[in-house]
Amino acid sequence: MRKLICRDTIHKRVQEIGAQISDHYQNRPFTCLIILKGSTVFAADLIRAITSEFMDIDFIRLSSYCGTHSTGKVEMLMGELEKFRGRELLVVEDIVDTGTTLSFFLEKLNEIKPASIKICSLLEKKEINKGRVKIDFLGFDIKNEFVIGYGLDMNERFRNLPDIMVYEG
Ligand code: 5GP
Repeated sequence: MRKLICRDTIHKRVQEIGAQISDHYQNRPFTCLIILKGSTVFAADLIRAITSEFMDIDFIRLSSYCGTHSTGKVEMLMGELEKFRGRELLVVEDIVDTGTTLSFFLEKLNEIKPASIKICSLLEKKEINKGRVKIDFLGFDIKNEFVIGYGLDMNERFRNLPDIMVYEG
């Protein structure tokens, strides 16, 4: 394992993003939609860096089935999303790699017509995503390496590490 981003650097950046988000929404109500499970640690810090008194939070689990066309599961997701109709949404993701997961989710989310959708991601592998998913509030651009820690896992392990590490086997 090799340390990529230390806890102090993460903390400083999260405070900056929180200030940007507070500035963007001002006194408008919005929902911070946290994507489970990888974003939980980031989101716990981020929401406390947002000063708005008009924010609420919600959670959604996106699993690999999002990449398939399994109708039943998509419908289940749509049912869960219906409550966000007309709402300003801030989607909080841990990492955008190819952008496949988020593109699929955003397509579904757009169908229920929220008032607005902004994306916040702690990490982006820009050389892989290549602008497919536009991130409005980004923590760090990283190289194409597999990272763990600060909520990110490798087969459900290492989410508890306080720093972001490169997993080298
Ligand atoms: P995408 O659909 O953008 O290719 O991948 C998004 C999902 O893949 C992320 O939400 C995350 O669960 C997983 N992922 C992609 N890259 C990494 C990585 O470097 N480390 C970890 N732990 N998960 C990753």
